[in-house]
Amino acid sequence: MSLRPLTLALIAVTCGAAQPDRTVLVLGAHAGDAERLGNPGVEPFRARGYRIVNTALAGSGLNLAVDLTVATRRSQAQAEVARFIAANNPEIVITHSIGEANVVNHGAADLVYRAWQDARRKDGARLGQLWFRVPEDRGGMMSEAAFRRFFEPARQGDYFVVADAQAPAEAPAVLQPGPAPTYPSPGRRPLVMAIGTHADDVEWAFGGTFGKLIEQGWKGVYVVAINNTAGNRLDVLHPNQPKPEDFLNVQHVQGPFAADALETIQIRQEESRRAAAVYGATPEFLNLHETWFWLGRQEVYFYDPRWNAYDPPGTGVITSAAAGSKGLDQAVVLMKRYQPDVVLAMMLAAGNPEHGETGDVAYRAFVRAAREGAHVGQLWMGIVDPPRYLERVRIAPDISVDVTSQVDRVLTALEQHVSQGQRRADNQARLDRSRIGGRYYEHFMLLVDRKASK
Ligand SMILES: [Zn+2]
Repeated sequence: MSLRPLTLALIAVTCGAAQPDRTVLVLGAHAGDAERLGNPGVEPFRARGYRIVNTALAGSGLNLAVDLTVATRRSQAQAEVARFIAANNPEIVITHSIGEANVVNHGAADLVYRAWQDARRKDGARLGQLWFRVPEDRGGMMSEAAFRRFFEPARQGDYFVVADAQAPAEAPAVLQPGPAPTYPSPGRRPLVMAIGTHADDVEWAFGGTFGKLIEQGWKGVYVVAINNTAGNRLDVLHPNQPKPEDFLNVQHVQGPFAADALETIQIRQEESRRAAAVYGATPEFLNLHETWFWLGRQEVYFYDPRWNAYDPPGTGVITSAAAGSKGLDQAVVLMKRYQPDVVLAMMLAAGNPEHGETGDVAYRAFVRAAREGAHVGQLWMGIVDPPRYLERVRIAPDISVDVTSQVDRVLTALEQHVSQGQRRADNQARLDRSRIGGRYYEHFMLLVDRKASK
């Protein structure tokens, strides 16, 4: 038997996984964080002669030029971190953990995770593993057993190994439906509160479940978390194929001209009211600041010096609101007023950071309202886009709701969001992607169950 095929196979394996450098890169949010994050994980590496690089994301040579809680919304900030990782080719990258009590640390972990993936895929970095330091503090979603249990299989000592470029995780299996829910019986008309981020997120994240419960006699509260100062597409809306002269133009300016913030707030809020009416639900608005707004042709972000001069109306920037904000306080007031039996919330660390942080706001409002005496039941977190979640952390649904009977209603609710350029066939095709065996499902993690804990 010739050795030749084996030799070729070995060469192929070696080339396919170029070795990282003997470097441990520790990325903390602020100066001094890296030393704490690296302790005790870096010591065995230091003893073996590895280079240890401690870096702070804010106020260091990494010129992100943005607030950490919004950095994942800014492609240049994420690219800067990715380039830094690629320049070091580290065997181990250590950072904070998502779901930490500290919202900035959580944001830093989210940013490093995305940048690490970019460094691997786009910048050709030679990488080993990415570690999150297991949080010690209480508070934050990682303190919930229901959330943390998905991370425990990835745990090695004081760290969660969330990705490994040398041993990539298998592609996520197709999502299988979890058990059907058993609803709490509150001894009164039950109430479901759905908390979406942007004007139409209730529809996309859990519109079917929301509609089904209301149809079964539940009272529904439809909450929009942010003030929608961007994302109005009326300017490019045209029933057929738009031509340049169809755009909303000033004088002879060519191309789309985004609707301004104040107009967008009004239009998208009205669209949400109409969508809520499709379900027969009560609309509520937290008015948290979206991270940016349109001003004519300019995007103005909240860390821009002009932000304060324009003073856009709002109750706190969504990506840091969970740390404390008027909007969070208002969410607590809503929880106390309605005492929901089920809260439907967005998934932490979702692809869109504004979605993820809305999940955190909903969670913290729920916990605080309960602590302050409100009778709240369960908090379900929607699993909308599981393949984009952390690579080695696989979240399987605790609850899956068959929403086949609600597809028509969700499509009708989506059509109320006129400024999004809705086309029923496109929306139908997007919903069709979630079909399993010809049925439509929405999936959830049962994050908090106040009934079970009593
Ligand atoms: Zn959204």
